[in-house]
Amino acid sequence: MAVMTSSRPPLNRALAEFGTTIFAEMSALAARTGAINLGQGFPDTDGPEEVREAAVRALRDGRGNQYPPGPGVPELRQAVAGHQARFHGLAYDPDTEVLVTAGATEGIAAAMLGLLEPGDEVIAFEPFYDSYAACIAMAGAVRVPLTLRAPGFRPDLDALRDAITPRTRLLLLNSPHNPTGTVLTREELTAIAALVVEQDLLVVTDEVYEHLTYDTDHVPLAALADRFPGLRERVVTISSAGKTFSFTGWKVGWVTAAPPLVSAVRAAKQYLTYVASGPFQYAVAEALALPDAYFRDFRDGMRRKRDLLAGGLRAAGFEVYQPQGTYFITTDITPFGEKDALAFCRALPERCGVVAVPNSVFYDDPDAGRSQVRFAFCKRDDVLTEAASRLRKAFAG
Ligand code: PMP
Ligand code: GLN
Repeated sequence: MAVMTSSRPPLNRALAEFGTTIFAEMSALAARTGAINLGQGFPDTDGPEEVREAAVRALRDGRGNQYPPGPGVPELRQAVAGHQARFHGLAYDPDTEVLVTAGATEGIAAAMLGLLEPGDEVIAFEPFYDSYAACIAMAGAVRVPLTLRAPGFRPDLDALRDAITPRTRLLLLNSPHNPTGTVLTREELTAIAALVVEQDLLVVTDEVYEHLTYDTDHVPLAALADRFPGLRERVVTISSAGKTFSFTGWKVGWVTAAPPLVSAVRAAKQYLTYVASGPFQYAVAEALALPDAYFRDFRDGMRRKRDLLAGGLRAAGFEVYQPQGTYFITTDITPFGEKDALAFCRALPERCGVVAVPNSVFYDDPDAGRSQVRFAFCKRDDVLTEAASRLRKAFAG
């Protein structure tokens, strides 16, 4: 019997260029080879025991086992507002200015789908987190990359101004920045804020690593709203529990913004997951209320891990770009006479039993990051030490 086939490929044109995410590819490679996974950014130790217990309690008490409210459970929306006030001095109304999402990933997707029209231009600094390009494409919009260049990875603010056209709708920011570890300074953010208001743009700012800054403080773009009338009405801030509390599998994220922006993001979000992570929402509400010491210790511990892995990578011969934030270190493999980060990362498990991620896949400009490789340091000290020793043996003899 004849089988019906279509000459058109199943995958639509918007997504055809993206393939499988590099994180999935590299984690599968780690699983297949038994290599140490410093690729995908997830901790190998769970977050605080009392937060885990809070999730168990919620489950047992029947809180969140059925669909939670569309915007998120009130306890979590209040806790998000409380966190924004406590750490950043920002006031958000839990009822109209907070939206709970299925991780930051859904917040980003819903923001792109809710705020963009086909043909709108979105400016983003590359290398960018992989879902940005895909979500911009799903919204039918056009990405306009501005390259952060080694060794400093600072934004070129003149280039930013020059990139704005009448079709520019939105600036997509990420600070602390994955994968480079760049943390935007108050001066850089001030220049960006001025431009955004002057040019009547929207900003979506992904601040999932807000608690992971080492040599400098994290300044949310929204914190500049006092100085720039009109800014608050233009900024959508996204964060998530995954990074701050080391429960990346729970997928609890949130959006904070002025009511019309939250409504626009919610309009898309309600047709994506509608809602997610019921019992975990209650647990994250408790996590956000942990004492300041939790956040300080978490950052201090991660700073130590950064220094541990950075030292190991240097000893192995990598060029190391010291990150100011996140739990990633970007390196360059040119000192080994290597040029192709993707080929390097695909071969690394065979060579020495370590998995890393090629930054080259996060750039539109194929030359800009061709020889950059990212290592995650959100792992146990013994794991980092062993990975560093394998790399040293393989590359420094
Ligand atoms: N944005 C950035 C910059 C990230 O690194 C990640 C990965 N955690 C996300 C968003 C996605 O966050 P979540 O796991 O909460 O969806
Ligand atoms: N944010 C994580 C990273 O950068 C990965 C998340 C994912 O796998 N999508 O490694």
